Amino acid sequence: MTGTIDTVVPELADPTNVAAHLAAAADLARAAAVETADGEDAQVGDAVALRAEDVPDAATHYFAADKPGYRGWYWAVTVAGPEGDVNVSEVVLLPGPESVVAPAWVPWTDRLRAEDLGPGDLLPVEDDDERLVPAHAALDPDSEEGAEAAETGPGVREVGDELGMGRPRVMSREGRLDAAVRWSDGDFGPGADMARSASAHCGTCGFYLPVAGSLRAAFGVCGNGNVPADGHVVHAEYGCGGHSELQVDSGSLVAVADLVYDDGVEMEPEPAGSHG
Ligand code: SF4
Repeated sequence: MTGTIDTVVPELADPTNVAAHLAAAADLARAAAVETADGEDAQVGDAVALRAEDVPDAATHYFAADKPGYRGWYWAVTVAGPEGDVNVSEVVLLPGPESVVAPAWVPWTDRLRAEDLGPGDLLPVEDDDERLVPAHAALDPDSEEGAEAAETGPGVREVGDELGMGRPRVMSREGRLDAAVRWSDGDFGPGADMARSASAHCGTCGFYLPVAGSLRAAFGVCGNGNVPADGHVVHAEYGCGGHSELQVDSGSLVAVADLVYDDGVEMEPEPAGSHG
């Protein structure tokens, strides 16, 4: 046995709803599990739980699975039928809490990291990618994007320009919010070490090139080739020591005495009575 009812299948600890004729079919269920285990009786361990199914006249018997490579798993054998006509409906191996199982499936589009894309690689975008909307939707005042664009004024004109450039889709509100969160939390957001120790922020820097559209209020591109953020999207509250308006006091850090001019000529008083 690989565990008790409470630890292996805790939600199955109450077998009281199981009809008596289905509970009595434990031997039938065990035989089905052994048959599925290619007749290896040793691979079917103790009964660990019994649960009524959601449909009438159906219940599942659970047995510990002493099967090589399946530590912590159990056989689940569902039996069904009226009294006198009980049959095996299904036999499966199910993992318990201690089982080694594969990680939950994550779609490749979610697993992919930006740095995984190499030269020549293709990364097609799904038709229903929520980060994008048809460009005309951004101009429809009844759409979320259109309403937002109308609020921001110049954004409508900018999206129109983009239509003229032949872009069939533009970023949706979700897509822009995603980007805004990513950029804010990134290396050039307000929480970065560089920003926290900066005395002035990008929003007031001459090298700050605001982006177009609804993200303009918070993001721009740094154009100062002498700083690490050059060419990156920076938050308006990011900042660095390359800020255009920083004034550096180039005076000496130690006290300097007043300048004294010494021409090297010693002036001595003329002795008394030396005049003719
Ligand atoms: S130079 Fe520094 S403060 Fe100015 S925009 Fe670039 S990162 Fe921001």
